[in-house]
Amino acid sequence: MSYDRNNIFAKILRKEIPCDKIYENDHVLAFKDINPQAKIHVLVIPKGAYVNMDDFSQNAKNDEIVALTRALGEVTKIVGLSSYSEGKGYRYIGNNGPDGGQEVPHLHFHIIGGEPLGRMVSKK
Ligand code: AMP
Repeated sequence: MSYDRNNIFAKILRKEIPCDKIYENDHVLAFKDINPQAKIHVLVIPKGAYVNMDDFSQNAKNDEIVALTRALGEVTKIVGLSSYSEGKGYRYIGNNGPDGGQEVPHLHFHIIGGEPLGRMVSKK
């Protein structure tokens, strides 16, 4: 599983292209999705070079894993979706590999909400 340093999120992390930043810490960056699928749609990514969840869960340091998990909760709070901010619920999506529909080969979680989202998966 080799990491493509030219993927779009690697370029965002190197500040070669801009993003609409929501949150950042030493290990994590969160920004608005450029093509939102609901009223609120943000992406949370580790700063480390991990292709997907298989890669991250096996190779990331504990600090990075904790930071990503905490950031997922923090970002839902920042965008007003978590129960701590009286949100109405939301969805995390983590697409992995071709069948999972992953387009960008840098691990990322989608946080989507702000309106009813319907069923989890719709079959083609
Ligand atoms: P996935 O299909 O899970 O790999 O999702 C990739 C997501 O990245 C899509 O929802 C895209 O809209 C989003 N995306 C692609 N390029 C950018 C960008 N430059 N800034 C923000 N989001 C992006």
